[in-house]
Amino acid sequence: MFVGHFAVGLAAKRIEPKVSLGTLVLSVQLLDLLWPIFLILGIEHVRIDPGNTAFTPLDFYDYPVSHSLVTVSGWGVLLGVVYFVIRRSARGAWVLAGGVVSHWVLDLISHRADMPLMPGKPVYVGFGLWNSFAASLILEALLFVLGVLIYVRTTSPVNRKGQIAFWALVAFLSVFWLINAFGPPPPNVKAIAWGSLGLWIMVPWGHWIDRHRSVRITTTTRIPKLESL
Ligand SMILES: [Zn+2]
Repeated sequence: MFVGHFAVGLAAKRIEPKVSLGTLVLSVQLLDLLWPIFLILGIEHVRIDPGNTAFTPLDFYDYPVSHSLVTVSGWGVLLGVVYFVIRRSARGAWVLAGGVVSHWVLDLISHRADMPLMPGKPVYVGFGLWNSFAASLILEALLFVLGVLIYVRTTSPVNRKGQIAFWALVAFLSVFWLINAFGPPPPNVKAIAWGSLGLWIMVPWGHWIDRHRSVRITTTTRIPKLESL
């Protein structure tokens, strides 16, 4: 899953608007941002296997550090604690930890039974949404549209940069996702690793968007007096 994770990050802005979109992106994508580092270091492995599922030509046969339930919980706690130490916001910390774990849950729905529960134990789970190309595409697209809608209803651009930077991100993610879905399999594992590593750019991009958008005042926080004036 790709844009589906970003959907969660965008929607999370509504739950805790004080957390920057860049940090929310870091939380929901953390596992896929760590994964290429572990691939390059030779700690985790993937192989190109067209037809592995209908949706992806990748065989995720060894990724227990970035994607096992136990380690993912640890990554969530780690990000939450770091955020709490820096920003002193328990709510923000919980939202970020939840964002990390949400990635595992969405991957659990999409992947075939290749999601490890913990390192060193050959127990794998996965509901296999990816076995249906059409269902994968439709569900993830719906999720992304929903995330984008929630985000644009939660924030508004304070200038043109806030408008352009956000819609450029939406376009970039959509194109990247569709190329992966409809394009040929990647040429080799190195290309996958370095390409995925490049997605770290999404974190400063999210922070950049956040600096040029403000949180809308919701009806519940509007001062009632104003209405009668
Ligand atoms: Zn993942």
